[in-house]
Amino acid sequence: MADVPLLAVEDLVVEYMTPSGPVRAVDAVSFVLARGEVLGLVGESGSGKSTVAQALARILGPPAMITAGRVLFEGSDVLAMHEDDLRRFRWRKMSFVLQSAMNALCPVLTIGEQIIDVLVTHERTSARAARERAAHLLELVGIDPARLTSHPHELSGGMRQRVGIALALALDPPLIVMDEPTTALDVVVQHEVLSKIAELKEKLGLSVLFITHDMSIVSQFATRIGVLYAGRLVEMAPTRELFRAPRHPYTKGLLGSFVSLHGPRRRLAGIPGSPPDLRRLPAGCAFRARCAEATARCATEAPVLRGIGEDHSTACHLVSP
Ligand code: SF4
Repeated sequence: MADVPLLAVEDLVVEYMTPSGPVRAVDAVSFVLARGEVLGLVGESGSGKSTVAQALARILGPPAMITAGRVLFEGSDVLAMHEDDLRRFRWRKMSFVLQSAMNALCPVLTIGEQIIDVLVTHERTSARAARERAAHLLELVGIDPARLTSHPHELSGGMRQRVGIALALALDPPLIVMDEPTTALDVVVQHEVLSKIAELKEKLGLSVLFITHDMSIVSQFATRIGVLYAGRLVEMAPTRELFRAPRHPYTKGLLGSFVSLHGPRRRLAGIPGSPPDLRRLPAGCAFRARCAEATARCATEAPVLRGIGEDHSTACHLVSP
């Protein structure tokens, strides 16, 4: 198993079935995530990043459908699993931390009841052992175990999100998918939660797929970053390389859109326009209408993702190795 990647996604396609026909939200996305790695997936709203995350554990509901590709987890094809195998796979092998813990947690159960419920359901452990484990999990995320008897509304936003992380850690899964885990928090609480995630990553050697629209956040953890635009991966590179030498015009735009506390002062550039309507994608490159570097070729031919250097790939006609 040593040379089998923890997660390999191959040409994944997800479509939403609408009255006017299928809309492709994820288009031939491929990537690999190694054990102990934190891989960032970045893009604007509607880029397909959350749809990719949900497709990995097959928790997408209609009208979304996975219409092509493979998701290999430790070599096993998740898309071919039967319901029973899927039930064992979810949370034990791949767990989730979602954007708003207030929505993810049950408001009428205590924190302890919710963590113990996960442990007893999946591990058939005794109530006492589950209670001890729940207390340990809260300690791990920096919350006093006395809070096991609290309800979600009695905790601050940051604490609730850390409870979400404790729940994701409950069964020691090899992979945690964090989907915008700090987006709903103010910057101070965001820092508190990000620090905790960074600490746990070091302590437990977590493998994480970290999904966000915020480049500055993902740069703190990710070993590599994949940039999604209109459902396609347009650039993938080690984090340092991506920040040092972004090659795709969209990546350059994203990096020019946030404030850096380091380096020389510069004017924030932003990206003009907005992402395309997936129901009416233009011919050629989907980024063309917003791209200052577009040429005539970009209007007719869609660029494909190809390697341009060590572990660095991009999808742009103007970029060559
Ligand atoms: Fe811009 Fe053309 Fe590259 Fe697309 S392929 S990002 S339009 S230069």
